[in-house]
Amino acid sequence: MPGKQLVVFDFDWSFVDQDTDRFVLEVLSTKLRRKLQTIKSGGSQCTPDVVAECMIDLANDGFTKEQVLDALRVLPLHPAMKRAVTELQKRSPDTTFICLSNSNEIYIDTILKHHGLTDLFTNIITNPAHWDTSSPNTLLVGRLIPKDSPNQHTCQVGCLVNMCKGDELEKWLALNGGLEAFEKVVYVGDGGNDFCPLLRMRKQDVCLVRKGYELEGRIKSEAQEKGLKAEVVYWSAAWEIDE
Ligand SMILES: [Mg+2]
Ligand SMILES: [Zn+2]
Repeated sequence: MPGKQLVVFDFDWSFVDQDTDRFVLEVLSTKLRRKLQTIKSGGSQCTPDVVAECMIDLANDGFTKEQVLDALRVLPLHPAMKRAVTELQKRSPDTTFICLSNSNEIYIDTILKHHGLTDLFTNIITNPAHWDTSSPNTLLVGRLIPKDSPNQHTCQVGCLVNMCKGDELEKWLALNGGLEAFEKVVYVGDGGNDFCPLLRMRKQDVCLVRKGYELEGRIKSEAQEKGLKAEVVYWSAAWEIDE
């Protein structure tokens, strides 16, 4: 009888085949998609802050909540990824799935609901978001660690100011029996900010790293120096995760 297993999913470009923040703007407004690009390439802007600004502009330009939700409903989630997780759930009911993402609650909930996967993740750790009660077409996006919180993280691995995925994984583990409670941890990721949590994993754990994205580069240049212990397996397409 195999022991308990934990599967940690990053969301953008890992669980889904797109970047949620960019995709919504690509579907609705080229002008705001460009704005997102321009601010982000300008430097170390915190992602949810930039998205929050663009979502206010989007509502001011006349786009509605329903249009935003529709864009999320057509965002590609590969059928093979869906099969991979639902089959794994059936095959090994002792697997716990959690999601660790720099997207936001509304985006992730809308997509999971659309695909009938609301019950997949035990916990979704991401940035808070809600529709503004006084302006119902405006999505207000916040930071997981608010700007004024006394509990800012002190990560030195290069995580964005709003979220250290390594700390968040450790906090979750501390509340769920610790690493020792799981025989194996599998992390599916692609982004530069997925590097930090991988450093908290053990030799018997596995990182499923998407080829051609930032995480691959960080592993190749920093894994040795930072002491990455877990096994690294590269993948390109969702069917390989199913395998
Ligand atoms: Mg990602
Ligand atoms: Zn970190």
